[in-house]
Amino acid sequence: MTAPLPARTRVAPSPTGDPHVGTAFMALFDKAWAAKTGGSFVLRIEDTDQNRLVEGSEQQIYDTLEWLGLSPDESPAKGGDFGPYRQSERLETYRPYVEQLVADGHAYYCWCSSERLSELRKEQEASKAAKTGYDRLCHGMTREERAKLPGFTETPVVRMLVPDDAPLTFTDIIRGEVKAPFPDDQVILKADGFPTYHLAVVVDDHLMGITTVVRGEEWISSTPKHLLLYRWLGFPEPQYAHMPLLRNTDKSKISKRRNPAARLMWFREQGYLPEAVRNFLQLLGYPPAEDGQEVATFDEFVAAFAWDKVATTGPVFDVKKLDWLNGHYIRSLGTDELTRRIVAFHTERGDWDEMIDVDLLRRAVPLVSERMVLLGDALPKLHFLLTDEVVIDDDARAALPDNAAAVLDAGLGVLEGVPFDAESIQAGLRAKLVEEMGIKAKFAFGPLRIGLTGSKVSPPLFESMELLGREATLARLKGLRDSL
Ligand code: GLU
Repeated sequence: MTAPLPARTRVAPSPTGDPHVGTAFMALFDKAWAAKTGGSFVLRIEDTDQNRLVEGSEQQIYDTLEWLGLSPDESPAKGGDFGPYRQSERLETYRPYVEQLVADGHAYYCWCSSERLSELRKEQEASKAAKTGYDRLCHGMTREERAKLPGFTETPVVRMLVPDDAPLTFTDIIRGEVKAPFPDDQVILKADGFPTYHLAVVVDDHLMGITTVVRGEEWISSTPKHLLLYRWLGFPEPQYAHMPLLRNTDKSKISKRRNPAARLMWFREQGYLPEAVRNFLQLLGYPPAEDGQEVATFDEFVAAFAWDKVATTGPVFDVKKLDWLNGHYIRSLGTDELTRRIVAFHTERGDWDEMIDVDLLRRAVPLVSERMVLLGDALPKLHFLLTDEVVIDDDARAALPDNAAAVLDAGLGVLEGVPFDAESIQAGLRAKLVEEMGIKAKFAFGPLRIGLTGSKVSPPLFESMELLGREATLARLKGLRDSL
């Protein structure tokens, strides 16, 4: 097999709110294919729908892609040889193509008012018309001719004149032969002078040298229009890869309204690691690998990349799998890096306590990392170690056995004398409480745990004592003893 030519791929989000997880899903496949072929990955901002723009959204797109390690090679922020990369800055680029299409008879002006169009739609629905869509009233008319008829507006749009033999099938590199429905006379230039997505995407993908258009399957039905535009404008067609839509566990399409995980920012806010999210998106694209093969770096993903492996039925967004991956990546970071990420996470969230001794946190992290799912899980589990005062919760107090005072007294006696490392602490306490006094381990250490941590469950007890130090350990246990 000959090596594929260097691909130019692009992700083309509209900055209409905080970024959708689908944008990262596309970007991952764009970047992987560009990497596999030694090509480039472009980020284009599709902001032609001026009413839907949301301030700050573009910046969030850059930030979230960078966070995931999916930064583009070219973008509005980064520049590149094919700019500008923001469609609102390319209006003059589109105009000549519209004029050419009109001059060649492939497109026409339409002065129909929105009232007339919605009236037409209603009539077609009511009569269950076989042919729906625009009725071509304006086709072949001059402005003067059209102005004499009802439902006229001053500012026209430009529509495609879709021929009866419009090509409806195309080859998709994921799906093979795909058939799409016959298109309407699509508007390509709006009354405000902005192109619609359909024109802009074709012109830009061509001028930006895009070889492989990776986008969501919701665009399959638009592809015949795009193919017509390519043909009319004399542009070579790109390859198409229509990715499956991500689905909720109930199989519905994932949307920001119904699933918080549709928002890319959510993952970061929740304390997921970018490595885990990226790996999770890899798994969504490919049918689940055999057990144990699910963890893969981006480079491994690229090495094994093949379009025909991509699933075509909507992958289910199973957060349980992501939790598992997150735990895996948390444990693979190493203590120093994990500690750094925990501090960064809380700092970003605005609840980092400046009084926490980061060095102590670093030494304590190994006690909880096995049980961590999210970055935010460590501090609550280690709170007792990182603060001076421990509060005994009611639940824990109620669980104290009748002999708690005797256990605490004996424990205090041991802890005053043993060398203060986890191993010696454990040996000393065990010899006294379990062997000499004959108390079952579970009951022997319960009161000590409650005195030390304030709760019934905690990270490993003896290690926690060592980290806390003799003085603080004794003070806490005395505190509980005196309150009995
Ligand atoms: N602006 C479109 C979107 O946000 C891009 C679709 C495409 O990739 O062609 O869905």
